[in-house]
Amino acid sequence: MPRSDFARPLIGPIAIDGPAGSGKSSVGKALASQIGFRFLDTGLMYRAATWNAVQNGIDVRDPDAVVMAVSRMEYSVGYGDDGDNLLVVGGEDVTGFLHSTRVDDSVSAVSAISGVREIMVAEQRRLAGVGEIVMVGRDIGTVVIPGAPLKIYLTASARTRAIRRHRDFVAAAAAGEGADVDFEDVLRSIERRDLVDSTREDSPLRPADDALVLDTDGLSFDEVVERLVALAAAVT
Ligand code: C5P
Repeated sequence: MPRSDFARPLIGPIAIDGPAGSGKSSVGKALASQIGFRFLDTGLMYRAATWNAVQNGIDVRDPDAVVMAVSRMEYSVGYGDDGDNLLVVGGEDVTGFLHSTRVDDSVSAVSAISGVREIMVAEQRRLAGVGEIVMVGRDIGTVVIPGAPLKIYLTASARTRAIRRHRDFVAAAAAGEGADVDFEDVLRSIERRDLVDSTREDSPLRPADDALVLDTDGLSFDEVVERLVALAAAVT
């Protein structure tokens, strides 16, 4: 549905949460583009914090050192031509480094640190203040903007999510943007992140009580986007 057909105005931001590989980033971006909202993938902010810590030789199991590094990190979230988020840290566009296995391996540990979450959530709330934004993450509906008029929780089996994520790695490797990654390793990494993200004390991954839960296992990308556009139109 082109932007002009979307019944406006929606009275606030849209929250999309879900586990790794649930499709929330690509689906959220497509939804935002169709309804003329901005898009923010909050996972990239945690990934940038992780990349910055690792890059500076900080032990991600040392919460004080990580919080110190994150509080000093100069970063901004920008937009590419296609509406993609760009993460600039210390003046350098680091977006291309954020989905490496090195970041994947440490991001859940960094994100479990309350001091890191405090810094990130404050910035996310500031960005959500404008209203017309689709924000995706793990705790958007439960913690960041619990008053959002539309909250979606996307899910799928770990295997389906690993297949999607592995496909991305294969495409990146074919484009010369990364090494080949073994499917079983991707599956294990997803299961490990699921466990850490959903059992951490601060803001564990879970659907908000009033979120609409959508299992995307048997649905195509377009079908999921179509459903979300319809849901967004229904809350105007
Ligand atoms: O969404 P994505 O997989 O890129 O997120 C990377 C990691 O960032 C997650 O595994 C999770 O640990 C963390 N995260 C979070 N809260 C958010 C978004 C991401 O804890 N709102």
